[in-house]
Amino acid sequence: MHVTALSGGVGGARFLRGLLAHIDRTPELHGSTVTVIGNTGDDITLFGLRVCPDLDTVLYTLGGGANEQQGWGRADDTYAVHGELTALGVPPAWFGLGDKDFGTHVARSLWLGQGFTLSEVTARLAARWGLPERGVTLLPMTDTPVETHVVLDEGEGPHAVHFQEWWVRLRATVPAERFVVVGMDRAAPAPGVLDAIRQADLVLLPPSNPVVSIGIVLGVPGIRDALRGTRAPVVGVSPLVSGRPVRGHADACLAAIGVESTAAAVAALYADFLDGWLVDDADAGSVDLPGVRVSARPLLMTDVEAAADIAGAALDLGRTAAVR
Ligand code: GDP
Ligand code: CA
Repeated sequence: MHVTALSGGVGGARFLRGLLAHIDRTPELHGSTVTVIGNTGDDITLFGLRVCPDLDTVLYTLGGGANEQQGWGRADDTYAVHGELTALGVPPAWFGLGDKDFGTHVARSLWLGQGFTLSEVTARLAARWGLPERGVTLLPMTDTPVETHVVLDEGEGPHAVHFQEWWVRLRATVPAERFVVVGMDRAAPAPGVLDAIRQADLVLLPPSNPVVSIGIVLGVPGIRDALRGTRAPVVGVSPLVSGRPVRGHADACLAAIGVESTAAAVAALYADFLDGWLVDDADAGSVDLPGVRVSARPLLMTDVEAAADIAGAALDLGRTAAVR
């Protein structure tokens, strides 16, 4: 089975780790491939280095090297470089990168500087984390540098900050007026992205942020059309439970685009291509969209086993959505 998934950071990565565990424990799924199309709108240049937070979270989580408490960054990391940069007064102090994590960003920046594309760089990093051996290909949504910026209207009047500054430094407490994806008008899907959607047996939308993760991937010219046109069923998992994000500030992001924070309203954002939608038991019966088969079950990814069960339910929903 060829599965293609769009992904943000922590929500996507934990779901994908569950998917791989489900494939491992299911003999008839052995030999399956998983192609991940990762959000690069969160990317930022810090200290002269190119940082791709969502791609790295997928790499570290699937490779067994993620900091489980934070969800992002490396396990057992130290902060010597960060401490030295702070002592030198080199901003920003609000973005904490560990020493091992710095290694990734140094290597990525070096390779990009040598002329390799982000796809090529990501493939090298994926090899270090053993993804190919597990049947996983991680593709950035685009090789064109894009950055999500957030328009705020406070203090000195309307102005835009990088998404990371709004999310990490301001903790999304200042209301976003809107999101602007700088560079998206020039962006093309990375090599293999559209084919991975068109030739998949199943396309999955993990419970990633619908606005600043999945929503950004969907904005890459051609990706949404490929999802509408693919013969594969498209199945999504709700990131909201009882109207609240399980973690992070997806509600603040939805408010900025004028969408209610409910599992039903998130599904409606995908209505033009969605075939199946998995909601939490708490939201059972709340979603009624033409052409979308809905199923309810517990959706908290409390451990790998729980995430594997959710991924298994998404595959089941894909099978039933395909035969109707
Ligand atoms: P980020 O880029 O690190 O913010 O991660 P993603 O965009 O991939 O995922 C963030 C979303 O994951 C948030 O909106 C959360 O509500 C959702 N999420 C996190 N943990 C869980 C979980 O255990 N279950 C569900 N259903 N959603 C989750
Ligand atoms: Ca992210």
